[in-house]
Amino acid sequence: MKLYGRIQTEISCADFIRIANRCLRRIKKQAPEDFARLQRVVRCVSSYETTRECDLGEWVADPRPSDRPEHWDWEDGEMTGQLFIKPDLPEDQLLGVFVHELGHACTVTDDLKPLRSVISDEWSSEIMADKYASKWGFERHLQICRESREMLHHGPPPGCEWEEYGARFRLNADYSVERLTPIPELPPELRAMREECLRQNQIAGQLGDEESLRDPSA
Ligand SMILES: [Zn+2]
Repeated sequence: MKLYGRIQTEISCADFIRIANRCLRRIKKQAPEDFARLQRVVRCVSSYETTRECDLGEWVADPRPSDRPEHWDWEDGEMTGQLFIKPDLPEDQLLGVFVHELGHACTVTDDLKPLRSVISDEWSSEIMADKYASKWGFERHLQICRESREMLHHGPPPGCEWEEYGARFRLNADYSVERLTPIPELPPELRAMREECLRQNQIAGQLGDEESLRDPSA
């Protein structure tokens, strides 16, 4: 079966199909270029079985093909994959979870670079997923979902302030991250360690995925 556009789904529940199609139509209207990308990257939408209350959906990117060197650089940063969702949630919550996972699917490496240089990788990716969903007009549905989400895992809501590296950060309404206080001065040896850490993080962000492309037997 196909959803609006050409994304395949293994879910036959009529309510889910109707809600997912409504969501995809709105994305096409709000951001045709994002809709086109989703058509390219989402291979399939499947049913997600879990016993944990907070895990209602998941985007699982495909492993990159290690046997096809021409794909190693992935210039556009798009990743194909499979979207899992619990299809029997209440309508508003289902929409919120679905658009958040579509937001993960739509995220490309270039989106993450500015965030990754400031905050942790996991929150960068969660913030970016919500930013896409908000851009498509689903802020209200995200808010409904946040009530059942764990912030530590899923990232902060807009307006939230938190501490990282001893400095205070805030997520603004437009999903930009602002550092509110300076990162405290450290003794030289600790500063060198922190800088090395950040440098390694950036290298890992840029190259880490490429490394995993290499054929381990080569
Ligand atoms: Zn997420």
